[in-house]
Amino acid sequence: MADSRAFRIYSKLPIWAQNVACSHAGIKMRRSRYNNTFHKALRFLEQSQWWSLKELRSYQNEQLQRIVKHAYDTVPYYREIFDERKLTPKDIRTVDDLSKLPILKKQTIRRHFRDLQSKEWPRKRVVYGHTGGTTGTALSLVSDVDTQPWQWAIWWRHRQRFGLKLNDSFIVFAGRSVVPLSTMDPPFWRRNLPMHQTYVSVHHMTKQNMPILVSYLQKRQVAYYSGYPSALYLLASYLLQNGIVLKHPPRVTVTGAETVLPHQRLTIEQALQTELADQYGASEQCSNISECEKHTYHVDMEFGVVEFLPLEGMPSNVRRIVCTGFRNMAMPLIRYNIGDIATLSELPCSCGRQSPTVEKIDGRIESYIITPDGRQMGRLDFLFKDSAKIEEAQLIQNELSSVTVKIVRSPGYTSRDEESFLAGMRRYLGNEIGIQFEYLQAIPREANGKFRQIVSRVFRDQYLPSGTNEAF
Ligand SMILES: [Zn+2]
Repeated sequence: MADSRAFRIYSKLPIWAQNVACSHAGIKMRRSRYNNTFHKALRFLEQSQWWSLKELRSYQNEQLQRIVKHAYDTVPYYREIFDERKLTPKDIRTVDDLSKLPILKKQTIRRHFRDLQSKEWPRKRVVYGHTGGTTGTALSLVSDVDTQPWQWAIWWRHRQRFGLKLNDSFIVFAGRSVVPLSTMDPPFWRRNLPMHQTYVSVHHMTKQNMPILVSYLQKRQVAYYSGYPSALYLLASYLLQNGIVLKHPPRVTVTGAETVLPHQRLTIEQALQTELADQYGASEQCSNISECEKHTYHVDMEFGVVEFLPLEGMPSNVRRIVCTGFRNMAMPLIRYNIGDIATLSELPCSCGRQSPTVEKIDGRIESYIITPDGRQMGRLDFLFKDSAKIEEAQLIQNELSSVTVKIVRSPGYTSRDEESFLAGMRRYLGNEIGIQFEYLQAIPREANGKFRQIVSRVFRDQYLPSGTNEAF
């Protein structure tokens, strides 16, 4: 649906024809995602997840050498970078050697879009795509035809850990425009039969439409749900508030695309009577971190190198993510600064996998409030999570001196609740910062339907070279 003309035509079709179009797209999607490369990769990954750390590291070094040599030989941007530094591929033998190369910024990808593509990669293997993001921040990308099946193999290894199978039926709650935004009448979902998928549009998950969606879900029996945690949380909160129990609860709920906050996880698991399985990936398809059966996040080392680099002024285990993908020979991304933050863990996992673990994914670099006295506060969800009086809250910081709290109230919210939130926030943010409350019917999503709990322009700007639109 990326083509806007095709989407205009799609929007005008009757619902049955939109369902046919979705299924038709599903045939193609199935072919490009779940092909021979996918099955081969998945079989490999099922084994390699049990390798020793030494074996995984040696595999990574091999893959790194392969991609570095390819980049040097065929990608003009990298040839120049290497030449400038008087380096050759022989200088990058291990993951530790990566620090000899510069960090690749989003802005650089935009500026050197052509020069970052391999000149010797067969055109018929090249796939064009882009990342999500708010208007103006989406990034055009090029990938090899095998990148996507590899990404899906990584995602399916994660799903298999929770007993899911490729042909299981499922319902997705996410931001793709399968239901045109102008559509006011139900259904707010479309079927993609070849993929056994029902796609619910998060753009239509309003309070008004929730009863219609829930009565539909009560009629469906599927193996699992998947989607944005914020969308599943809206559904879960609605069920709890109205005392509704799902007749056919999904055994597992797979989340991704946004950070899942602890209170969202609890509410989703309780209301949907499900086990939540989270993973962190990126549309750039160069890094992935997935939960195991014990709900520990493990770095998917076979997919790329994930470097966790220190952030000035932050605790030493809070790191920014920089990644080098192994699977995209059409446009290799080496040391790409993805703009996300994670908290490292020192603890080994009892599942037996030796790949490094991450305590939590903190989310976007903008997800930190900066106080006038210089403290950086991420994850303030705990301030709101215990209140049944709030449906959703979002913190916006456009300047150092103030924060705006956007709130969607539940019935029974009074000025006392505002006072108690204000007191709670003052405890963490101090007395110097201005705090305003703004009440809304719904908190606007980004263009791709994603929800962000904290958006701090101040934090982002602090790490920005002036005049750019980059996290670093
Ligand atoms: Zn584990």
